[in-house]
Amino acid sequence: MANLQPVRGTRDLLPDESRRFRAIVERARSVTERYGFGEISTPIFEFTEVFARTLGDTSDIVTKEMYTFEDRGGDSITLRPEGTAGVARAFISGGLSQSLPLKLFYAGPMFRYERPQKGRQRQFHQIGIEILGVSGPQADVEVIAVGAQILDELGLLGRTVLELNTLGDLESRRAYRNVLVEYFTGHRDALSEDSRTRLQRNPLRILDSKDEGDRHVVAEAPSFAEHLSPAAADFFAAVRQGLDDIGIAYEVNQRLVRGLDYYTHTAFEFTTTDLGAQGTVLAGGRYDGLIGAMGGPETPGIGWAAGIERLAMLAGEPPPPPRPVAIVPMGPAAEREAQKLAWSLRREGLHVELGYSGNLKRRLARASRAAARAAVIIGDDELSRGVATLRDMDGGEQAEVPLAGLVERLKPTS
Ligand code: ATP
Ligand code: MG
Repeated sequence: MANLQPVRGTRDLLPDESRRFRAIVERARSVTERYGFGEISTPIFEFTEVFARTLGDTSDIVTKEMYTFEDRGGDSITLRPEGTAGVARAFISGGLSQSLPLKLFYAGPMFRYERPQKGRQRQFHQIGIEILGVSGPQADVEVIAVGAQILDELGLLGRTVLELNTLGDLESRRAYRNVLVEYFTGHRDALSEDSRTRLQRNPLRILDSKDEGDRHVVAEAPSFAEHLSPAAADFFAAVRQGLDDIGIAYEVNQRLVRGLDYYTHTAFEFTTTDLGAQGTVLAGGRYDGLIGAMGGPETPGIGWAAGIERLAMLAGEPPPPPRPVAIVPMGPAAEREAQKLAWSLRREGLHVELGYSGNLKRRLARASRAAARAAVIIGDDELSRGVATLRDMDGGEQAEVPLAGLVERLKPTS
């Protein structure tokens, strides 16, 4: 027997869920359009190097989570685990450096081999934005503002906290890295296995550890703030000032890191306590070194991504679709008339529910379930007189109306 279960960590989006997802994507699309972003769709798979190079070979994504396979031509291909790498690749391969600054929005599925749990799947969906080519802090403020406004319009801003940090510039980070290595080496025995490995390769990531023992050590770790270069400190101050100016609240969290070498300056997350362990709904930062490191022209960038599943779990129901008109034919001749009528009404833009079978009672019950605002009942007798019975599904009143006038009569009054 074939295995007909969905692959672990994947699921089907049935119509109700699809509608919730679509409402989120459409909201994000509309907000980003207002801010001057255009939409980009990059392929769902790329050459593996695109991710291996951008995400760094010490990140969790690259070491444990990628869906990588060899295709029939012998190329190593990876299903995209996130959106930024593909956008950066598109920027380079499309020669888009003449069109800077670029403001891009994307939405789509991402793939990570993770342990599935609430809010964590192997195929999940993200919306995200990137601004390429702006090195000043106005871009950081704008990117965060877009995130805040989308959350606000979804009714979620009040349920999240914006956590903000700076990862400084290269110079600051080198200095801080040395201080951290020294400090953590002194506490080596108290660190988890994972963190001891990170100590050599990527000590900043230890700050982000979820291990209980690590957290005690991290709590006493020297802070980045004292090791920022004056330029990096000024940059961070300008970002905070910009957020203050437009009234976006934030909390500085010095433990917030993005452990990749290409990340600089601003890092931020909108987090919630309403989703258990999976509390980050929208996360991003500045990645000024990334495009250069991929082999493209040095180009600053900043962006964020948000998980649609997590947004959907928090957001309320989207408004229901428009209420349909149900057509209920009784008999073969009426059946044909019903098809014709449905065709004309739908071409006028009306939502029409046309059942396929059943007696009057069953069809009316189905019309109620579909939340129909009106039912058009056509029997053979009515048909011979060129009329139909129009029933108001809320009040229950009925009236005979000429078939010819139905389209006019049923058009929404607006
Ligand atoms: P986490 O710490 O939860 O693993 P992350 O740092 O790996 O998150 P990012 O790579 O920054 O997450 O992705 C941005 C957002 O995408 C997350 O905040 C989350 O909303 C969503 N996300 C990430 N991984 C998953 C997943 N496996 N399933 C569902 N949503 C996810
Ligand atoms: Mg993760």
